[in-house]
Amino acid sequence: MKKVLIIGAGGVGRVVAFKCAQNAEVFGEIILASRTESKCIEIANEIEKSLQKTIKTAAVDADNVPALVALLNQTKPELVINVALPYQDLTIMDACLEAGVHYMDTANYEPLDTAKFEYKWQWAYQEKFEKAGLTALLGSGFDPGATNVFTAYAAKHYFDEIHTLDIIDVNGGDHGYPFATNFNPEINIREVTATCRHWEDGEFVESPALSTSQSFTCPEEVGTYDIYRMYHEELESLGKHFPSLKKAQFWMSFSQNYLKHLEVLGNVGMTGIEAIEFEGQKIVPIQFLKALLPDPSTLGPRTKGKTCIGCLVTGIKDGVEKTVYVYNIKDHQDCYQEVGSQAISYTTGVPAMIGAKMIMSGKWKKPGVWNIEQLDPDPFMDELNEQGLPWQVIENPNFNLVK
Ligand code: NDP
Repeated sequence: MKKVLIIGAGGVGRVVAFKCAQNAEVFGEIILASRTESKCIEIANEIEKSLQKTIKTAAVDADNVPALVALLNQTKPELVINVALPYQDLTIMDACLEAGVHYMDTANYEPLDTAKFEYKWQWAYQEKFEKAGLTALLGSGFDPGATNVFTAYAAKHYFDEIHTLDIIDVNGGDHGYPFATNFNPEINIREVTATCRHWEDGEFVESPALSTSQSFTCPEEVGTYDIYRMYHEELESLGKHFPSLKKAQFWMSFSQNYLKHLEVLGNVGMTGIEAIEFEGQKIVPIQFLKALLPDPSTLGPRTKGKTCIGCLVTGIKDGVEKTVYVYNIKDHQDCYQEVGSQAISYTTGVPAMIGAKMIMSGKWKKPGVWNIEQLDPDPFMDELNEQGLPWQVIENPNFNLVK
């Protein structure tokens, strides 16, 4: 009997559970485990109601390797889909090795006390997974995830060599709150406030956070947005796996309102990741802030508008320079109608399910630790079209970025 264990029952975990249940012939039995089991039970009840599919639930502390191994030995899944937080990546990988289970995630490991966004810790598991005959798939969300696959697909089908890559992540959605983040606030704010790095001529070049911006008009009338250059983890693996890349940058849209709040919160110390002493208790400011902000998994009913995330790639084909833009547009309310969540969780959860499907179906079963762009993009791209994230390609678009 096929079986999959999903760890994490937040915004993304909810979508993964729904999409796995929609693809029950591939996943067989589905178990949803998290620190707070009541959240798993709530999702399981909604899946039962809307899809008439029963999924099991469990409580687990994913920071605790013996507890994870006990759950894996008891439930015996083929694959763990890790959609808890980046802090748990290594403990879950250790448990998978001990119990002989394939692994995948959507975000690279991060130590709690430093916002690093580096793959080195997980790449160090390459030999262990290879020797154990197990597959570990890293970064199967949207960015990282679908954007890496878009890059690999463009490189495979449209170019002999790729030279520049701009990943452009626009969220044209509005949730109506003065300030809220679309996924886990702690991870989101750590990412946005980190020093910017982009890949240029074989090395990372640093610049102050959010110091470079420009305007970008999305196709299909999604609108025109201010996009800001920032560091995003896929730049590291894409720079490594596509050595012909001379420059790779990541851009994300932010409203003036979001940036104003972030600046004030930063200025007063609320985004700090180091513990401070408060009335005899240690408090990490960003964790306290997370407790005050709206839970991203509750934004679904209120978020209106569309996301537009894509890759603008330039390079050479048959000696001629060309540009290709591969992108997906998704409507927040369509996601809410389908699985009860907004498009940020949806666009992460669907590629996570597809990555899992690639492993379960054997298409991407390959011992070792892999970034998603190292595997054949074609079956993944086909699945995106089937599973709710259709994409388009524009060859030689009539726009380009200015920086
Ligand atoms: P949430 O904070 O909404 O959910 C995280 C879940 O993990 C919660 O259910 C939480 O449990 C659970 N969890 C946290 N710590 C533990 C632990 N020690 N043991 C067991 N469960 C734990 O986050 P999101 O759903 O927004 O994000 C999930 C992941 O997806 C993150 O790693 C994020 O970085 C990644 N992501 C990736 C994207 C991509 O495109 N690649 C985009 C967006 C997110 P509890 O409810 O008890 O707190």
